[in-house]
Parts: sequence; C-alpha cells; structure tokens
Amino acid sequence: MTEIVSVRKSVDYEKSLPVAIDKVLRDLGGIERFVKKGEVVALKPNFIVYSSPSKGIVTHPLFTFEIFKRVIEVGGEPFIIDSPGSGLPFNKHSLKHMYKSTGYWEIFEDYRECLNFDTSSEIVEIENGLLLKKVRVLKKLIDSDVIINLPKMKTHSLTFITGAVKNMFGAVPGIEKTSYHSRFRDIEDFSKSIIDILNTTNPGLSIMDGIISLEGDGPALNGTPRNTGVIIGSKDPFSLDFVLSDIIGLSSNYIPYLKVGLENNVTRGSYEVIGDQVKIPDFKLPRTFHGKSSIEIIYVYNKIVSPVFRKLFVQKPNIIKKKCIRCGVCVRSCPENAITMGKVSASIDYSKCIRCYCCHEQCPEGAIDLKRINL
Ligand code: SF4
Ligand code: SF4
Repeated sequence: MTEIVSVRKSVDYEKSLPVAIDKVLRDLGGIERFVKKGEVVALKPNFIVYSSPSKGIVTHPLFTFEIFKRVIEVGGEPFIIDSPGSGLPFNKHSLKHMYKSTGYWEIFEDYRECLNFDTSSEIVEIENGLLLKKVRVLKKLIDSDVIINLPKMKTHSLTFITGAVKNMFGAVPGIEKTSYHSRFRDIEDFSKSIIDILNTTNPGLSIMDGIISLEGDGPALNGTPRNTGVIIGSKDPFSLDFVLSDIIGLSSNYIPYLKVGLENNVTRGSYEVIGDQVKIPDFKLPRTFHGKSSIEIIYVYNKIVSPVFRKLFVQKPNIIKKKCIRCGVCVRSCPENAITMGKVSASIDYSKCIRCYCCHEQCPEGAIDLKRINL
C-alpha cells in the first residue's frame, strides 16, 4: 500500500502552527483515524540533551502541545514520554531538568501530570526481526494504546539524518542505548537494530517538527539551528523519512537505515506526497558525510577490513580542552570506555574508539569536535 505523506509549511510555533497541524492531520485522514476515545496515547518527542527549544535540538514544546490538544479533543488520554541521550542519567531528577530546560515544564503547566517520570522498562521478545531477538524498552511507552512519534528534523553524525525511524530508538532506556553501538559497530547492523526497535514500538502516526531544524554536525549542540518552516506527517515513518531526504536534497541511498530497510523489504519506498511544495536548498550535512563514499565505501570496506578501515578513514572525535568543563557526560556515554577524565579535560584513547560519536552528541558544552579527514 502506498502511504500518504503530508508536507505543510509553518513559519513559526505560534500563529501558523495550529493551522499547519490541522492541515497535516486532515491530509492523513484526521486525528480520529489514529486515536479513539478513551485510548492512552504516548507522545514521543526527541529529548536528546538538555537544551532550549530555540536551538533546534529537541522537538519544540509548542509543537508537542498542539498534538496533545488534538488528542484530548477526540477523547484520548495523552502523556509525554522519552528516554534522553545516553550521557544523561535516566531518573526523575534528570527528567525534571529535561522538562525545564526544554520548555515543557512551562508549556505543560496545567498538565504536568502528563509529563512522564516513570523510568521502568521491560523486555519485549521480537519475532522475525532483522537482527534483534529481544529489546528492553520503556514500559509506559509500550503499554500505551497508541504511540505518536514526534521526531525533530536533524542531521546526525553517524546516520547523516535522524528522522521518524530513528526517533523510536529513544524507547530504549537511558544508558542502555550505548550498548547498541558496541554490539552493532557496523552501520548496517546498527540500522537493522533501529528498524527492529521501530517495528517493536510500532508508532501509529509520525509528525516531524521541521519548523526550526538542525543542520551541520547534529544531532545536538554541535549542530546549527535553521528556520526551515516545514511539518511532515505520515502513518509510515519510513515514508516520512524518504520525503525528508527528498526535501533536503539527499538521496535516500545515502541514509543507512533507509537503504537497509529497502534491501530487507521492510519498506517499499513508495509513497504519495500531498500538501505544499517544499525544497530546502543547501541543507548542511554533518562533516562525517562524504557523499557516495560515505556509505558505499564504508559498507564494502567495513565487511573486509573493519574495524581498521573505520579507524583510519572515518573522522575521529576530538576534545577541545579549553571548552571542556570536566562534567563526565562523555565518559558515561562512551560504549567502549575509551574516555577518561584528566586533570584539565577528558581525553580519548583512540585505540578503543569505535567512532560512534555518542560523546560528540552528548557533550553539553560542544567541546567534542570531529577531526576533518578527506576521502
Ligand atoms: S568533553 Fe568535557 S565538557 Fe564535554 S562531555 Fe566530556 S567532560 Fe563534559
Ligand atoms: S570516544 Fe569513540 S567510542 Fe567513545 S563515545 Fe566517543 S566516538 Fe564513541
């Protein structure tokens, strides 16, 4: 079946957002198609690090609030849930700080009981997955009747973009995410694990916040916010990400998890776009992206000479000593225990580093740069 993808312009999070959200939902058949009266609805934004919504890193609280209101209007019972990035502790204190720093505490002032503080998780068995046999996920998320996936439009140093498919990786609790980088060092395997997690959580609807997006060295503080003024929605997360790749002018062949999805018949890559015509010129990709060579050469060589090839030719994380505040977030987020804390700054043992970029993603000071190499 060909899935509909709705693309609508919205220049801001105030005046134009409610109109644009209404159009997206109408294009997709109305919120009633996805939420029935009395259903418990998990809204899953992207909360990767503590960050102001103006930086384009987290799903904007006004965006989530707009969907939240639509769910209530049809008699659903919505709540907000995500597990932040692996460098942050996953506990009530950390979640409260996340809600405050991202503006959710303020915007949801009258609905704070709908902000999740439950960190319990459970293991779900996976039948016929691409790679995983089981996965530990947030219990409240998986117990909900419906999941509405609310990704942020961003670049990503490892997967080049992070959209609707990858947003559900946040279903894995806290630091457990780092183990996926250790276990699945090959980007193809990592992509398979992301797809298995997506299919396990099975969101009923995905709507992407691309009003302020993040380009450059995303997905966190090393990226650059940009006003892109777009909302993309679909029942199918893959279709949404195919359209995202088209809008930013990046072939889906270069996005590892879309390529893996096509090769394994998880998606057919067929969709119909309705709504506004949107193209975003010169969308800056992360420095880890080298066009054709980023994915094809790495695919081939990873099979043959990995991990040597990856260590030699793929950009390495580099700690900028004068920016480092010795907070230890990178130490916690590193799946290979490759980072230690020195007297002046953290430092990386490159012989252990697998170039997963978790440290780069999680550093709250933007103190971990990527060392440029040319393929
Ligand atoms: S590089 Fe320094 S500032 Fe950044 S996460 Fe590591 S310890 Fe914290
Ligand atoms: S030091 Fe290397 S292995 Fe550790 S988090 Fe950073 S990129 Fe990943």
